[in-house]
Parts: sequence; C-alpha cells; structure tokens
Amino acid sequence: MEVQVMVDRESTGLPRLVRGSVVTHRRRCGKPNCRCADGEALHETTALSYSEGGRSRLLRLPADQVAAVRAATERYRERRQRLEADGQAGIQTLVARFGAGSGR
Ligand SMILES: [Zn+2]
Repeated sequence: MEVQVMVDRESTGLPRLVRGSVVTHRRRCGKPNCRCADGEALHETTALSYSEGGRSRLLRLPADQVAAVRAATERYRERRQRLEADGQAGIQTLVARFGAGSGR
C-alpha cells in the first residue's frame, strides 16, 4: 500500500502540506561599507514561521525553495478550512437531528 501521499515527489521532494507561514525579514548587517548601509538594499532572509509546543519558531528557507514551501502552507490552510467547514456542517447535522425539542 502506498503511504507516501504527503510528499510531492514529482518536483521538489518537499512535503505537500506545511503548517505555518512564510515570512521575509529585511535588515542591515551592520558593516559600514555593505550595500545595505544606505538602508535601501537590505538583506532579506525568508523563513517558515510556525508554532510548536506553544512557542513560535523560525526555520530559514533556501531562496530557491521559498515558493514551494509557501505553496505548501497555502495547501495546508485550504485543507484546514475545508476540514473546519466539514466539522461545522457535522455539528449542524447533529443539531438538526437531535437538537429540536430535545434540549432537556
Ligand atoms: Zn549588509
């Protein structure tokens, strides 16, 4: 039985679903002669921001993987929204079946 449904093997080998969001930070490195010193050509680092055990964490991403990871976070969000909608519909089905007139 195939169990590797969560991995997109055809392209990048990255997971299909990733919880979190991709964030970009821009900063100066502090070297006076660097291109970033004028405050315009700042250094960018892109990371996956996610929470684990109640703490927020950052995982730096290679530049060429950012788009794929962002797409995986969007797939996760869409699937979670669908799951929540299905669960909500389940509540409404139960309320319709058991709720009316059986409140106490
Ligand atoms: Zn710099």
